[in-house]
Amino acid sequence: MIRKVKGTRDILPPDSRLWAGVEAEALRIFSSFGYDEIRLPVLEPTDLFVRSVGEGTDIVSKEMYTFSDPKGRSLTLRPEGTAGVARAYIENGLGQRPQPLRLAYMGPMFRYEKMQRGRYRQFSQIGIELLGSSTPEADVEVILALHTFLAVLGFDDLVIVLNNLGDPEDRQRYIALLKKELAPHRERLCGDCQRRWDENPLRILDCKVPSCREIVEDTTPVAEAASAESRAHVDAVELELADLGITVRRAPRLVRGLDYYLRTVFEVISPELGENTVLCGGGRYDRLIADLGGPQVPGIGFAIGEDRLIEVLPAAARDRFLGERAVVLLPVAEGAAAVALGLARDLALAGIRAEVEVTGRSLRAGLKWAAKLGARAVVILGEDELAAGEAALRHMDAGEQERVPLERLREALVP
Ligand code: ATP
Ligand code: MG
Repeated sequence: MIRKVKGTRDILPPDSRLWAGVEAEALRIFSSFGYDEIRLPVLEPTDLFVRSVGEGTDIVSKEMYTFSDPKGRSLTLRPEGTAGVARAYIENGLGQRPQPLRLAYMGPMFRYEKMQRGRYRQFSQIGIELLGSSTPEADVEVILALHTFLAVLGFDDLVIVLNNLGDPEDRQRYIALLKKELAPHRERLCGDCQRRWDENPLRILDCKVPSCREIVEDTTPVAEAASAESRAHVDAVELELADLGITVRRAPRLVRGLDYYLRTVFEVISPELGENTVLCGGGRYDRLIADLGGPQVPGIGFAIGEDRLIEVLPAAARDRFLGERAVVLLPVAEGAAAVALGLARDLALAGIRAEVEVTGRSLRAGLKWAAKLGARAVVILGEDELAAGEAALRHMDAGEQERVPLERLREALVP
């Protein structure tokens, strides 16, 4: 037997309905805020991620699915969405459109990671990007749209943590300070952090190894190295969010796994999944598009991990997305199959979910099948019923049965 690739998942019915429901809700809410969907390739030139996400990051240094195409070009299965959006912005001259540009995206991402709950090698993200504004209000809007989406799904226990990474100039100064503070403990850092020391020292702050965490706890938080201007920006974001009834928790040591972020960075944490399995990550990236050779265009956005979101989806949203239970149409009389199929069409057009028995089951076997499906009602088309232009309508939960004229069946089946 051929098995799926490790770290990938088969999303089977009825769970697939949860995915469709979450995605439809995301498109509805985000498009209400003005974010239209952009659909981008899964396959991109490797260089795109090396130059945006950054060479010293975990993603680029060890998590990418990179290979050569038959002509020897290095391609990568996208590990995240923002780099592709930035590339598309430049390539399609989206700077010519009225600014700011609001874009939403969703789809599969690929990272070679150690598999565990909430961590897969193919996973899905839902994200938005606001390009062309550097004001605090842009940050506030993006976080407001995120908060609104999560609230509509019924989440009420999520925590938004926020930090100020400062500007790239602040970061140079900060990294020098950090290295000075860490120098006496350098030998005790884990192997990964030894490597990060030269490649990307900021990532040491993000190490999950307990002994590294302990050492890091005594260092100056990155937020304290932010310039006055950068502080004013992030403070304004926090204040304006509070005015909208959205409280955030400051996390002065939070850094994120991508190099392009500056100033505002944030994460959404679910108590159920814990701090090591973050639901959503985002931040401001004002130099990214210019660094990729495009115009000087600031941006801010986030990506929600859809797999993780669905894992902790509130019950009310689950029930809503799983949808109504089916009606079973059970033709038992000679020639009743055509009547059943005609009824299925009427019901489909009325938006009522109905499944026809097409394998030739008897009444008894058909009822058993309907019960297994969890049908809410069964429409039995027998000799007597059809002769009278009627059907027997059996309500499965109540165990009651009534005769209904065929032309009244549709209204009788409205849930
Ligand atoms: P983590 O710290 O959990 O590795 P990250 O910082 O690498 O997350 P981002 O690059 O910010 O994650 O991606 C945004 C979101 O995408 C994450 O918050 C998470 O919900 C989701 N995500 C990232 N990697 C995975 C994965 N391997 N499997 C499932 N979801 C993921
Ligand atoms: Mg990661």
